[in-house]
Amino acid sequence: MFSNEPSRVPEKSSLLPSAFSVPEPRPSRPQSRVARFLRFTTLALVITGGLLVSVPVFTNSIIRSKLKATTSNSTVSSPDLCPQTDVLIPNANYDLWNTIGKEISTSAFKDAAIDWLSGAIQVETEMFDDMGPVDEDPRWENRLLFHEYLEKTFPLVHSVLKLEKVNKYGLLYTWQGSDASLKPGLLMAHFDVVPVNPETISEWAYPPYSGHFDGESIWGRGSSDDKSGLIGTVGAIEILLQQGFEPTRTFVAAFGFDEEAGGPRGARELAATILERYGENSFSFIIDEGGGFSEQYGTVFATPGVAEKGSMNVELDVSTPGGHSSVPPEHTSIGVLSALLVHLENHPFEVHIDRSTSTYQLFQCFAEYGTTLPSALRNAIKRSADSDEALRDAENILFQNQVFKSLVGTTQAADIIHGGVKSNALPEQAWAIVNHRIATTSSVNATMKHDAELFLPLAKEFGLTFFAFGELLSLPAPDEVKGSLNITSAIGLDPAPVTPTSLDRDGVSTPYQFLSGTIKATYNTHRGLQGNDNIFVGPGMPTGNTDTKYYWPLSDHIFRYKHQNGGTGAHTVNESLSADSLLEMIRFFVTFILNADELNDL
Ligand SMILES: [Zn+2]
Repeated sequence: MFSNEPSRVPEKSSLLPSAFSVPEPRPSRPQSRVARFLRFTTLALVITGGLLVSVPVFTNSIIRSKLKATTSNSTVSSPDLCPQTDVLIPNANYDLWNTIGKEISTSAFKDAAIDWLSGAIQVETEMFDDMGPVDEDPRWENRLLFHEYLEKTFPLVHSVLKLEKVNKYGLLYTWQGSDASLKPGLLMAHFDVVPVNPETISEWAYPPYSGHFDGESIWGRGSSDDKSGLIGTVGAIEILLQQGFEPTRTFVAAFGFDEEAGGPRGARELAATILERYGENSFSFIIDEGGGFSEQYGTVFATPGVAEKGSMNVELDVSTPGGHSSVPPEHTSIGVLSALLVHLENHPFEVHIDRSTSTYQLFQCFAEYGTTLPSALRNAIKRSADSDEALRDAENILFQNQVFKSLVGTTQAADIIHGGVKSNALPEQAWAIVNHRIATTSSVNATMKHDAELFLPLAKEFGLTFFAFGELLSLPAPDEVKGSLNITSAIGLDPAPVTPTSLDRDGVSTPYQFLSGTIKATYNTHRGLQGNDNIFVGPGMPTGNTDTKYYWPLSDHIFRYKHQNGGTGAHTVNESLSADSLLEMIRFFVTFILNADELNDL
């Protein structure tokens, strides 16, 4: 259902957040029905923007078994722990927004949008981990075809905006605003895609680079991750230009070409260019791919990513004297390394939910607005705001789901191991690589310290000289040295700075409030709905890093959000996106740009 007549919200005052309003009670579904549907702890997996966003689903029976007998059933109301804003629609540009909204609802526009995305999918831009420099490896050259495709398909964008190519294939568009005193906004996406495994082509309903439209969805690699984000952005600008819109605020669009390999040649170079030109903290906000919206616990929630975990690889190198294996020592380097890894797995990081984290805030949102969240969990979460015991109760329930626990804490996984060359020769060396994903409340330094302290007792027990991250921590007496252990880390990425999620700053709306109101406006308009409680917004966290990891110095307000419900097959077979989702995404970017353009305080 589409609405051509969105409700007008003319009063600026009504756009201010209703942070402390108590929501109307929502009907809750009978619990027995929930229990019938959810007999086991399951995991709902929502693919959004190519990132796996995991939503644990909890059942009453499991919760009851985990709750202590002392847990009270009383509910403390705490709507301020998940403040919601009102629908935010353009005011000064209302007529323009309304006109474009009507156009997006036409079948002619739908056909055009389908063609835009379908054509983008047909330009193969696969990203391989082993690609060489951009001037040497011919596998980059298809990026030029994608550039040409954009130039041909979006003529107004390419005649009005300034386009620069950064490191040959990175696209940097500047849409100059009339008021240089306003901080610009930054729109990000990437146009490389993960390769299609040739062995899986027969499993695709339609060929992966066909861009086939089956009457409902557009099929192919990149339809969800992330050519739809790029086409949604550029398509929104094209339609705004068609209507003669001239921005007050400057908008910059930066599109990477190697995100699926971590963005070292695309996003890193783009970010450096932008930083040099504009300086630190020079953007009012940044938006990139990330979480979307979906029904969770009986209610539709949008979960823009406001945080990202850190990551670090730690290499463990064990050296011992070689020799013939007929006269072995008590422990070979392989035996020592094995003991270290067993010790590591037996001592996982302690995991607790911290009240300051976005994950905790999101569960406050589920507790406040999710109609089918089991009541025992709801009570524990609500009471946990000022009860440590209730917080432990909530943890006990939530950590039954290992995926959720992994999202919250620092994880460790021994992913590579190597040692030995011959069956009758003692291995002089053995090494392993442990991958850590670092909790948002921790850091690379804290993780290194943890690992150094973890291995120190074993290093002493095995008589090893122990270097941890360049520092000598243990040196046995010369006649007791059996070998050495050296742990190092080539690369480490701290958790991302957390984007503030308050709705106003001294009475002035924040970028999070602007994004939240825009999400609500888009959702309503696309469905012909009215009111502020059709969709709720809570802070999310994607499981991986996006290209934004290079953009931290540019803004405190980074959002990983693509206004998309579902989309399937990102990074696997049968990737597709419904045409309706694409239209809603374009509607979102139009609303987002127009709202951003007239909120002078951002
Ligand atoms: Zn992506």
